Amino acid sequence: LQADFSLIKRSTGFVTGLVCVLHDVTEQQKIDRDRRQFVSNVSHELRTPLTSLRSYEEALSDGAMDDPKLSKQFLHVIQEETERMIRMISSLLSLSRLDQGTAKISVELVNFNELFSYILDRFDMMIQKDQEKQLADSGVQPKRYQIKRLLTHRDLWVEIDPDKITQAIDNILNNALKYSPDGGTITCRLVYTQNNVILSIADQGLGIPRKDLKRIFDRFYRVDKARSRKQGGTGLGLSIAKEVVEAQGGHIWVNSTENRGSTFYILLPYNPAETGGEWDDETAE
Ligand code: ADP
Repeated sequence: LQADFSLIKRSTGFVTGLVCVLHDVTEQQKIDRDRRQFVSNVSHELRTPLTSLRSYEEALSDGAMDDPKLSKQFLHVIQEETERMIRMISSLLSLSRLDQGTAKISVELVNFNELFSYILDRFDMMIQKDQEKQLADSGVQPKRYQIKRLLTHRDLWVEIDPDKITQAIDNILNNALKYSPDGGTITCRLVYTQNNVILSIADQGLGIPRKDLKRIFDRFYRVDKARSRKQGGTGLGLSIAKEVVEAQGGHIWVNSTENRGSTFYILLPYNPAETGGEWDDETAE
């Protein structure tokens, strides 16, 4: 608490009272501390890939370039790290727009069932293509997984920004794939209640230790930094998902058991009276 005192005086100079104003500066101090921490995190997160780029570049200049196998391998690392940095900067820009409230949320009435199916079709296709490519490139059988769908057949018209919600679902699905074991099943569910639609994505991966559960939606927080980095992670995916879901009146959370798997949930407001048509049946001519 910060206290400001002022005296109440008569014209004669006689003091008749004392005013004490107490300001609660805890919140401001917390914001300042978080901001400093964030800048320090960003600097650190960018320095790590830059340092590794520099060492690979030096190794190439120092002779590795003459070895075709080594140079191919080093260039691959340089490419992966550069792409990861680009992803990180794009994510930081998205977060900054969301923070400043300048991210345009273009809400429209969307059939959520259709949107989710469309995203899952895209993932099925991507997984298949990725696996074919990995097999052709390395000759090694890549990690296999299966996406199981348990969706309601009902049309669920929800007012959302489809691009932003797609980004949140993409981030969670990508994690489910990254942290799934070989042969794992990712179960995607969509249910509805009187006022909400609830989407869940469950994997059979490593799970998240109890002590980390509260923090995994924080920017740059990762249970295992080295592991996340090796898989191309930036530690920003879940924080973006949380921001976009909450910006649209929704809620995001996770349940997880170590060595059993994790389930991520997204809840969004839903009004069953919405039909998505231009006119309701009764009012249509
Ligand atoms: P990252 O780019 O590291 O995946 P995210 O913000 O998407 O960053 O996730 C933050 C951290 O939460 C991850 O590094 C990982 O430790 C943990 N995590 C996220 N999703 C899962 C999952 N499905 N299973 C296990 N751990 C997960």
